[in-house]
Amino acid sequence: MSTTLTISIDKLLNHTPLTGEEFTVILKNNSEELRSRLAEEADQVRREHFGNRIFIRGLIEFTNYCKNDCLYCGIRCSNRNLERYRLSYDEILSCCQQGYELGFRTFVLQGGEDLYFTDERMVDIVSAIREKYPDCAITLSLGERSKDSYQALFDAGADRYLLRHETATRTHYEMLHPASMSYTNRMDCLRALKEIGYQVGCGFMVGSPGQTREMLAADLLFIQNFRPHMVGIGPFISHKDTPFADRPDGTLEDTLLLLSILRLMQPTLLLPSTTALGTISPTGREQGILAGANVVMPNLSPVSVRKQYALYDNKICTGDESAQCIQCMSNRMENIHFKIAIDRGDSPDLKLR
Ligand code: SAH
Repeated sequence: MSTTLTISIDKLLNHTPLTGEEFTVILKNNSEELRSRLAEEADQVRREHFGNRIFIRGLIEFTNYCKNDCLYCGIRCSNRNLERYRLSYDEILSCCQQGYELGFRTFVLQGGEDLYFTDERMVDIVSAIREKYPDCAITLSLGERSKDSYQALFDAGADRYLLRHETATRTHYEMLHPASMSYTNRMDCLRALKEIGYQVGCGFMVGSPGQTREMLAADLLFIQNFRPHMVGIGPFISHKDTPFADRPDGTLEDTLLLLSILRLMQPTLLLPSTTALGTISPTGREQGILAGANVVMPNLSPVSVRKQYALYDNKICTGDESAQCIQCMSNRMENIHFKIAIDRGDSPDLKLR
C-alpha cells in the first residue's frame, strides 16, 4: 500500500480532516479489501453513537410537478411522457396519519419545485402537521426557495431540510443543470437553511455523468467544511426520458465506500441508505447500513401516485402499501441484526449546542 494511502486512511480512522488529494487517493483505491476495512470501522463508530438502532423517515412524495429541467431527473419539466400529480392538503395529512399509526415520527415532504405550493399553502400544511403531531419531526425537501420562504416554513414548524448540493464542482454543476439554475444559488440556499436553524442535509449522486474521483473528493471536502446534520447519497440511475438516458449508472461499490468514508468523517452524521441504492442491488439498503448508514426512508405516498414520482428507471417499492413497506424494511433490518427505532431520531449534535 502506498504511504499516502496509509496516511489518508489513518486520518480518516482518527476522524481528522483530510485534504482533497487524500480523499482522492482513497477513492482511487476502491478495492474489496479497502471497502471491508472501512465498513468494519464505520460500523463500529456508528454503534458507539447509535447502537444497532436505525432511524426511519416516512417519505411523502407530494408533487411531481417541477419547474426545473435537471438533466438527470425523470420529473424534469421537459419530460412530457409523465403524468403529473400533486397531493391535496387532505391527502398529505392522511399520509401523516397513516404514517403515525405505523410508528413514523418523522415525515419528509419531498417534491419537485412546484409553483402551486406557494409559501402560504406550504405554511398551512406544515402548521397543520405541527399541530396534529407535536411529537414528530417535519423534514422538507422542496428544492430552492428564498430565505424568507425557508424562514416562514421554519416558523410554521418545520425542523429539517434536505437539499442535496448535487456536486461541489461548479463546472460539473453546470453540466448537470440547465443554464437557468445556479451553483451559487444552491450553495447559498444551504447556508441560509443552516443560519435559520434547520437541521440540514446536503448530498450528491454517485457516478453522475461527468463525475471524476477529484469531483467526489471535492464533495467530501465541502461536507467536511459545511458539517451538515445529514448527507443523502445514492447512485445515479439513468432515466429513459432524459438527456442522460444512455449514461451508465453509479456503482454499488463506490456508494458503499463513500458511505463508510462519510461515517468516519463525521461519526454522528445521519446517513440514509437510499432507495436508489436498493434499486441497483436487491440487498443495496442492507449493504448500505452495514457500510455505516443509520437511516432508512420507507415510502408513505399513496400507491396510486408512486410510479409517477419516477426520478430514475426501475425505482423499487412503487407497488406496495405503506404498511407493507415498513414491515419489509423492519424485516430487512432484523435480518442484519439491526432494529428500527420509533422516535424522531434527531441529530445527536443538537444536544451539544
Ligand atoms: N426538488 C427537490 C427534490 C429533488 S429529488 C430538490 O431539488 O431538492 C431528490 C434527489 O433525487 C435529488 O436531489 C437528486 O440527487 C436525486 N435524483 C434525481 N434524479 C436522479 C437519478 N436519475 N438517479 C439518482 N438520483 C436522482
